[in-house]
Amino acid sequence: MSDSSSGYRGRRAKVIATLGPASRDPDTIADLFEAGADVFRLNFSHGTHEDHAKSVKAIRDIEKKCGRPITILMDLQGPKLRVGPFKEGRVILQPGAKFRLDLDPALGDVNRVSLPHPEIFAALKPGAALLIDDGHLRLKVLDCGRDFAITEVIIAGGISDRKGVNVPDVTLPIPAMTDKDKADLQFGLSQGVDWVALSFVQRPEDVAEVRAIVKGRAGIVAKLEKPSALEHLDAIVDIADAVMVARGDLGVEMPMEQVPILQKRIIRSCRKRGKPVIVATQMLDSMIKSPMPTRAEASDVATAVYDGADAVMLSAETASGQFPVRAVAAMHRIIYQVESDEHYFDMMEASRKTPEHSSPAAITAGARQIAHTLEAAAVVTFTSSGSTTLRAAQERPNVPILCITPSITAGRRLGLVWGVYSVVGDFIHSVDDIGDVAVAAAVKSGIGKEGQALVITAGMPFGKVGSTNMVRVVWIGGETGTQ
Ligand code: PGA
Ligand code: MN
Repeated sequence: MSDSSSGYRGRRAKVIATLGPASRDPDTIADLFEAGADVFRLNFSHGTHEDHAKSVKAIRDIEKKCGRPITILMDLQGPKLRVGPFKEGRVILQPGAKFRLDLDPALGDVNRVSLPHPEIFAALKPGAALLIDDGHLRLKVLDCGRDFAITEVIIAGGISDRKGVNVPDVTLPIPAMTDKDKADLQFGLSQGVDWVALSFVQRPEDVAEVRAIVKGRAGIVAKLEKPSALEHLDAIVDIADAVMVARGDLGVEMPMEQVPILQKRIIRSCRKRGKPVIVATQMLDSMIKSPMPTRAEASDVATAVYDGADAVMLSAETASGQFPVRAVAAMHRIIYQVESDEHYFDMMEASRKTPEHSSPAAITAGARQIAHTLEAAAVVTFTSSGSTTLRAAQERPNVPILCITPSITAGRRLGLVWGVYSVVGDFIHSVDDIGDVAVAAAVKSGIGKEGQALVITAGMPFGKVGSTNMVRVVWIGGETGTQ
């Protein structure tokens, strides 16, 4: 492992790389990490438990070698709805034709197919749309009952075995997790994943349901990809630990021209509430087949970074594309360039929220101000839960946040968060030690050099959650506490 990957990468926004057949061998995972992947996403819509276990092991091996925490996010498939199989595998539906969906498991043809989800029929109403295969095919419900729907083909095309179905117009009375999701979740937790992403969240209760099972063993990412979730946006952001703008399904369930606006609205809501936010899907889509992204894609990644996203995500680009490592490298470079633009930090300043009425909030805001004034190398947070560090990231200082924690769990989880570089070390007992420990970590990571200041925040007594109550400045190479 080279120094470049164990040290600070020189940028704040994080890169998430999805693993898949194109990238899940240990050498490629190491290359992705070296190229700039901060978080690895295991997509449980694909792959076996054995595949994912091997990926976890490879990531944890790299972590051991490079000596700093690496973040793993498991993504649950969620209640993805699918039609059943066809006699011929595939049929073409003509515009204006009638097409029936029902609970009969018999193989489908040009007149009908099974849709093995009684809950959809229970919730459907005449006039509702059924979107098949990411919206390539659109059906309108003319008539429906407990176990069938007669539809008219509005946008015609091919339909084949087990294609996905989206029902944007109705809130479906389905639980947030299928039996498969529950089994996957238990497996992921037993593997020690750091984050769990929940697909097709419809209501805040969906997140609560998962939280009751996870019991703090991982952070929970609510994937926003349904119109019903947008209706409860702020409540879902409040209850989740992080949020994903899942533009793939979102752009199927909502008109595509709404996606940019919703992306900005979701990011604003998350920034206001101090929740990490991920922008996902098709960011560098052309890199599935091409070694270079389009300029429009470069601009898309840049926009997410300018908006203040914590992380940008690669899906098929790294999971099944031809250039997974180049895709990560491209994302790294685009982020780096945006953050080098002085206008970027003007935008962060302008979007900063006023600190709430509490000592930790005031201290953290103060630390950011001191760091700016002194042109410090970093804001340094000593934390065991990670809450102080998360708060420092909400401030979007124009310096990195060096997190020093005795908890590898906290360090790993914070890998998703804007600006945070975590170092896991021994538990610190005495406030007298924090200056030396901070200086050593800053120098080793490449974050700071001789003559630069570090602005340290910590809570006394150590180890008490939410007790941030001190700020202290030390100079690298100087005598601790002087100047
Ligand atoms: P998916 O989620 O890749 O799991 O479908 C992301 C999205 O829908 O954009
Ligand atoms: Mn999705």
